Amino acid sequence: MPYLTIKAHLRGTPERFTILRDAMLSATKVYNGLIFHLRQEYQQHGKVCYSASHLNRIARQLPRHKELYSDVVDTTRQEVRWAFQAFFQKRKHDKQARPPGFRKKTRLSPLRYSHPNNGSIKVIHKRGMTYLRISLGTTRKDGVRRLVFRLHTRPNVDLSQLKNVQIIYDTHTRDFQARLVVEVDVPDKSGEATVGVDIGEDWLIAADFCDGSRYLVCGRLLKATRRYWQKVRAKVKPPSQDHPMMSRRYRQIARKEARQITHALHIASRRFVDVCADKGVGTIILGDLTGIRQRIAYGTRMNQRLHAWPYARLRAMIEYKATLLGIKVKVVCEKYTSQTCPQCGIRKKSNRKHRGWYSCCCGFEGQADLVGAFNIHQKVSGIPSSGRSARPVVLVFDHHTVHEATSSREAA
Ligand SMILES: [Zn+2]
Repeated sequence: MPYLTIKAHLRGTPERFTILRDAMLSATKVYNGLIFHLRQEYQQHGKVCYSASHLNRIARQLPRHKELYSDVVDTTRQEVRWAFQAFFQKRKHDKQARPPGFRKKTRLSPLRYSHPNNGSIKVIHKRGMTYLRISLGTTRKDGVRRLVFRLHTRPNVDLSQLKNVQIIYDTHTRDFQARLVVEVDVPDKSGEATVGVDIGEDWLIAADFCDGSRYLVCGRLLKATRRYWQKVRAKVKPPSQDHPMMSRRYRQIARKEARQITHALHIASRRFVDVCADKGVGTIILGDLTGIRQRIAYGTRMNQRLHAWPYARLRAMIEYKATLLGIKVKVVCEKYTSQTCPQCGIRKKSNRKHRGWYSCCCGFEGQADLVGAFNIHQKVSGIPSSGRSARPVVLVFDHHTVHEATSSREAA
């Protein structure tokens, strides 16, 4: 059964948050204490032992470890271990690499509970509200051992099969959140149908179904949104190599843009996954995203980051929504799928003409993104649905509705 991560905001009295803050600072202290000892060990012996029992021995000597629940100490210990493992990996190639550093004293470390079933975490339903009870250590000075917060999530989430919980402080939104990982029961939809999907810029989603029907989801809204914010952003000084800290205005712009784009991606992915469910699709085949990077010209590194993420998000949303409906998602290598002719199989980069048109010397012509989707589909199913059967259904959407366009020309 698949896992889902549910994000929830914590609500409670200021006093409770003061205690939570303090507990998170304890976690930072424990983290730093472990790092301190291991760094010393490294300086003296040139190597480090990070076995669980050794780290536990160190942790037991740290003054604040008892203020945390044992499970949280364990996961903090695990973080230290990962940090050192990563350091030794890096050290192999880079002799200048330095051992893991300390966290800032004021940094609020996450509290991670990996075994919610042993009583460290409890979800309580009361009068239509959902509460989360978390356990702290046994010897806090104020004697508090448990904290209860109200959970603010989207409606209808099932938290009965909780696998692990993280309490974090989000520095962007400046609030405390719980990340709840739950196992979900999904309907066993062993649909036979398959669909190949190409994610792109002009056409957000190009889909090739095994029954020969094809779908295009217009990327115009997303492009317009991005272009608009690009213009706004151009008036603000961007973060540079020398000043990597973004200005407040810049962050604000980034947040607004992200919100609008996320909304658009939700509409597109929801509609597409619903179409898949209607057609009895059992497996969605997605190309990996390397192709996107090749196809879109980038400027700076910043540009690249801004360009690439919506497509990664869209893919994640398709996966997530499909999983909930019991549809499997497969990822295949996308290499050359946009260049290969579906009719004669020849691979030629120049076949991709401008404005997303594909035309081959064998006489085949078609929408380039659909060619990509067809080839991605082909990689797994191997069933040739002829490259250019029915006319594609074109979905155009704005911020509120989705509708079918009469022709792909209208949409483009
Ligand atoms: Zn051809």
